[in-house]
Amino acid sequence: MSPIRVEERPPSSLLYRDLKGQLPDIVVEAKGSYLYLKNGARILDGCAGAGVASIGHGNERVINAVADQLRTLSYHHTSRMTSPVAEALGRKLVGHKPGGLSHAIFLSSGSEANESAIKLVRQYFVEIGKPQRQHIISRNNSYHGNSVGCVSLTGLPSRRRHFAPMLMPHVSQVSPCYPYRQQGADESDQAYAQRLADELEQEILRVGEDSVAAFFVETLGGTAAGNLVAVPGYFKAVREVCDKYQVLLVLDEIMCGMGRTGKLHAWEWEGVSPDIQTIGKGLNGGYQALSAVLINERVVDGLRQGSGAFANGQTFQCHPAAAAAGLEVLKIFEEEDVVNTALKRGAELRSLLIQELGSHPNVGDIRGRGLFQSLEFVANKETKETLPANIPISMLLDNAIFERGALIYSGFGKGTADGYRGDHILMAPPLNISSAEVKELVDAIKGGVEEVFSRPE
Ligand code: PLP
Repeated sequence: MSPIRVEERPPSSLLYRDLKGQLPDIVVEAKGSYLYLKNGARILDGCAGAGVASIGHGNERVINAVADQLRTLSYHHTSRMTSPVAEALGRKLVGHKPGGLSHAIFLSSGSEANESAIKLVRQYFVEIGKPQRQHIISRNNSYHGNSVGCVSLTGLPSRRRHFAPMLMPHVSQVSPCYPYRQQGADESDQAYAQRLADELEQEILRVGEDSVAAFFVETLGGTAAGNLVAVPGYFKAVREVCDKYQVLLVLDEIMCGMGRTGKLHAWEWEGVSPDIQTIGKGLNGGYQALSAVLINERVVDGLRQGSGAFANGQTFQCHPAAAAAGLEVLKIFEEEDVVNTALKRGAELRSLLIQELGSHPNVGDIRGRGLFQSLEFVANKETKETLPANIPISMLLDNAIFERGALIYSGFGKGTADGYRGDHILMAPPLNISSAEVKELVDAIKGGVEEVFSRPE
């Protein structure tokens, strides 16, 4: 079947991925962990959209909180005003200064949060009199969002290639922490973590130790290579390198944060905290467009002693209805013990995946944390040989699993020089998914995997 031509697509569908001739599905309703399609199908949302629907769909408490807020105060500009609801959300997130993070600014998307973090890094160094620090180091196989700044940091080749000539110049990438593919067979976790920290240090020295502003990294990589959980000690080792050269550590927790890994912040697993952190997705649960940049005292102080304000204004930043959604989601997190539920259901998901698919000859790795798990597929389990580059395996699996009534998140792209394959699928269901729904999800995945890998070549 040939790909459908642009003019044959429904008017709003140009943004969707090329489904090789398939039209997009039309979703008309959603409740709890399920999506309901126009054709009558019920689909288990095994990836919460894109790791978004943290408390499931159609939650009346959040809907009412947003409606009440719209009735009271639907909008204000932020040039001289804030609102009680935004301040209450800010206090909930950083009032107790988790990891030293003391301030929050609110935006609408993960890309805007990361773009703002890039600008904040830059402004901080200008304010403290070190304007020569303008280089940012990120990692290969990473994803940081959609805007030009975010694509510049993104180490996912399929997201960069069309835009290469217009990307930011002072950016370079180092290796991710990808133990399945890049840790030596006889290399201890400690030695591997140190090797990566040494690589970061060498890159800082190559660029010039007084020129690097930040190391920008997903605490737990998701979209690009599928749940890259760092080996123990990795974050402590790279934090030490950052501190040695006064480089800011920025953690992108847009996807892995807000309870997804079974702790509110993914960095809580690592024993380090960032200078700047970005969050989005699960913070708003999908009820409004809301993201945030969380900032520690070191950075706030730099601004305080300089111009006194972050030069970053957007018409819809700090929107009261979005803040109301975020605040209610966080109240539900607390009152319904959602993060602990994610930890428990994550353990169930992981052990079922291992039980049902661990010995499948094409399942190379099952990795993740909490309700953020992925499967990497291979041609040969022993040698870890990758699948042929012309087989879009994650797309085929996505379709086969969808036909069995569940939605997962498929890897993008295939085969690049730095070893990125995209041969993975990712699960990130609502954090309050039930045990029975976890089982249903694994059954659909198992059926899809068995079907796709038993097809004749
Ligand atoms: N950073 C990470 C790690 C993400 O996974 C994403 C989205 O998937 C983004 C940033 C961009 O967020 P948004 O799509 O809300 O702009």
